[in-house]
Amino acid sequence: MSASALAELIRRRQPCVVLTGAGVSTESGIPDFRSPTGLWAKFDPLEYGSIGAFRRDPRKVWSFYKPRIAMLTEAEPNPAHLALAELEGLGFVDAIVTQNIDRLHERAGSAEVVEVHGSIRTSSCPSCGGRYGLERVLGLLAEADAPACPACGEILKPDVVFFGELLPPAEIERAFELARRARLLLVVGSALEVHPVAGLPRESLDAGGELAIVNLGPTPFDAQASLRLESSAGDVLPAVVAQLRGQQAQQAQDAS
Ligand SMILES: [Zn+2]
Repeated sequence: MSASALAELIRRRQPCVVLTGAGVSTESGIPDFRSPTGLWAKFDPLEYGSIGAFRRDPRKVWSFYKPRIAMLTEAEPNPAHLALAELEGLGFVDAIVTQNIDRLHERAGSAEVVEVHGSIRTSSCPSCGGRYGLERVLGLLAEADAPACPACGEILKPDVVFFGELLPPAEIERAFELARRARLLLVVGSALEVHPVAGLPRESLDAGGELAIVNLGPTPFDAQASLRLESSAGDVLPAVVAQLRGQQAQQAQDAS
């Protein structure tokens, strides 16, 4: 019932833009940040996730990132990622704005992905500006606890947004533009707590868009959502795909 209501909303209100957070990747075995079992319960973000900490002691920050990058690289897209890629393929999703750095949307086959917190795809040298792909960085990490820049020897920084850093301006601008254009903003697996991404629903609503939220746990926008599902994305989204696919097949049959 709930999946069919969401399918109907997506069908009726195009274009649909999706905003995803850590909750979409937990089913791939990637811990979230803020829940009681999340990463920041074990690692102080000021010591392991801030740009100040990185500048003070990049090797200490890499003691956190080295196993994390290995884990993110081994994780596989789950049914929620695959369903979102399918919805894009069927023409029901315009773009995904994600807070996640894990590249799982891309690996699931989504083409339009805006990574507002960066990703582990590359790491850059704070000193000479050299940029290295994930494979190269993994190679460096196989031989050291922290990857040194092959050109100058400085410790590389993963191109993910650390606390205390600005978000990549082009990505955040594109995210806000998509939110304004969306007739439906579908929030999946985000508690909408981290700004400025948490401002995207307001942007959509003010521009006349509607909001649908699939998340385990409350969000500040629950009361303003047209549809609010307290469910796991991996359960709901494949059912939504099946529903919309069935309707498309029916229409094709009726037209022929
Ligand atoms: Zn360098």
